Amino acid sequence: MLKKKMKPVSNSASENLEQRLRYSEAEFDALFDAAVDAVIEINDRGHIQRFNQAAERIFGYSEAEAFDQNVHILMPEPYHSEHDDYLKRYQKTGEAKIIGIGREVRARHKDGHIFPIELSVGEVKISGNPVYLGIIKDISARKKSESDAQETRDRLASMARVGVLGEMATGLAHEINQPLTAIASYARASRRLVENMDARSDDAENLEDTLEKIAVQAERAGEIIRRLRGLIKQGEGEHELADVVLLIKDILKLAEVDIRESGVEIELEETAGIPKVMVDPIQIQQVLLNLIRNAMEAMSEIDRGKKITISVRKRRVFVEIVVADVGPGIPDNEFGKLFEPFFTTKQAGLGMGLALCRTIMKTHGGGLTCLNNRMGGASFTMHIPVTDKSS
Ligand code: ADP
Repeated sequence: MLKKKMKPVSNSASENLEQRLRYSEAEFDALFDAAVDAVIEINDRGHIQRFNQAAERIFGYSEAEAFDQNVHILMPEPYHSEHDDYLKRYQKTGEAKIIGIGREVRARHKDGHIFPIELSVGEVKISGNPVYLGIIKDISARKKSESDAQETRDRLASMARVGVLGEMATGLAHEINQPLTAIASYARASRRLVENMDARSDDAENLEDTLEKIAVQAERAGEIIRRLRGLIKQGEGEHELADVVLLIKDILKLAEVDIRESGVEIELEETAGIPKVMVDPIQIQQVLLNLIRNAMEAMSEIDRGKKITISVRKRRVFVEIVVADVGPGIPDNEFGKLFEPFFTTKQAGLGMGLALCRTIMKTHGGGLTCLNNRMGGASFTMHIPVTDKSS
């Protein structure tokens, strides 16, 4: 505190009274300093007149530094700029935001860091002038433990969701594998029947071709599910050195019929010198197929000019595959939720696609990110690390 100097003791009655008052002021100072919470007195112009020891500790200013400074030095924006007006308005209209109310606000330390406080302000009139007394509790520790607890709850909730996702995927894998195997064998059997037909026509040949594609697709889906089950069980699938451009071409061939029917043009932009990478090819293709499907669905409302551009580039330690569409893009408020399991905006959607895709990319040591394109539409980027084993 800025201690007031005491006068030498005198005998006169008025000096005696003054001395008693001074003693009580000294005692008042001591009381001020003994308070556990910061206690700050400001005058009607908002200038600091008292600043106890707890205030020095909490805000980092000594009382001498704080004395007669505008109290807004203790406030971050926007309060910092608004406080003078606020005080004037209060004095004119009595309209109070904090005085007599008290609430949690943010404060600014001398070193610039912002921290949460609980502030209550009382008003007294001394010789007709208003004086305001602020009592401040630093609640950083309480807030931190609250947010730590929230984080733990969130983490537990998300682990529970991933657990549910795992169980669901295992159940689905089992249920889906059987019909897929049946589809594959029916398709092969039909193909053999067509092969042996006497009257060979163009139609029969086309049918044979289509049946072969059905069989390949069904087997591939079965393989994806087998790997997915493996991924859930062991955390990772089978990795081999692969050329991502070939993987993309391969998946485009498989999705050919779908793509043609949806009226989407697909362009593959290749960059030279892309190293091979260690990946589980089936999983990478699963991610690609998911992104292509999502892009096609996103453009379903567009009449013409539906286009997906797939580009491959090497960027720092990653090979990146970008799948860009010209659809509506991602609304700002959905970016945070996109990769969460069960987030979907589609009526028949499961909302598992992107969550699984991101998990797959993470188990590859990479990631999956999303951006809106400047010219419209969304771009999803698969990041695959280039390792020592890459070539
Ligand atoms: P689902 O396709 O079952 O909805 P996903 O996890 O694959 O599940 O996708 C989640 C949501 O992300 C979709 O419902 C959609 O709203 C949004 N989304 C995904 N891809 C795109 C895209 N290319 N353009 C716009 N929105 C997309």
